[in-house]
Amino acid sequence: MLKFKVITIFPNMITDYANEAILKRAQEAKKIAVAAYDLRDWTDDNHRSVDDKPFGGGAGMVMKIEPLYKALKKVAGKNSHKILLSAKGKTWNQTLAKDYATKYKEIVLVCGRYEGVDERINEFIDEEISIGDYVLTGGELGALVIMDSVTRLIPGVLGNATSLEFESHNQPGLLESPQYTRPEVFKIGQKRLAVPEVLLSGNHKLINDWRQKNEKQMIKKKQ
Ligand code: SAM
Repeated sequence: MLKFKVITIFPNMITDYANEAILKRAQEAKKIAVAAYDLRDWTDDNHRSVDDKPFGGGAGMVMKIEPLYKALKKVAGKNSHKILLSAKGKTWNQTLAKDYATKYKEIVLVCGRYEGVDERINEFIDEEISIGDYVLTGGELGALVIMDSVTRLIPGVLGNATSLEFESHNQPGLLESPQYTRPEVFKIGQKRLAVPEVLLSGNHKLINDWRQKNEKQMIKKKQ
């Protein structure tokens, strides 16, 4: 079982998402466990403050090191892999997701807020991960992206393992070909949107050829 432990000032954001759909089913099947910890539980002032003004001046507030250190010390198990969500981190991708799905037994995800986290956090984590080149207001969406993309790759979590084999990014640079379902023709006003005939042919060789050709076109479309 892979345990996800999330340190955040908004634990409900994590549990609300994790208690639906695939993450919920994976928890019920004991493939994963999800726990969200309120960072404010490791503060010792009346306001339960987790942030302070930046040394050297500048806009906004910075997350303090003490509550984060105490939380990590209490929450992280001996062999856990500790990640700080950060716009400055290594960019998350499917190759990392596949790797994490089998490599770790416990992943701790630290979610920043405000203008970020006191740099000394790097002494106590294993890596910084970014989910893309943009800035979010907090690390919670990043933590959920990692949890979701890793969980669906844990053997036995998805019903149909072959769906993983052909899906986008399973091999770097590969994108899934277009998919269709009923109706065969979707009519809207003057428009008539038909499914490519080859997909209705029942000829597996022709269908595979069509899919391979279209995988390449999907890559061009993305660029
Ligand atoms: N001042 C920071 C900077 O310029 O890099 C941005 C801080 S951001 C407003 C607050 C928190 O959101 C960060 O500490 C981080 O935990 C999270 N965050 C923002 N963008 C992210 C991204 N692309 N990937 C992962 N986490 C992100």
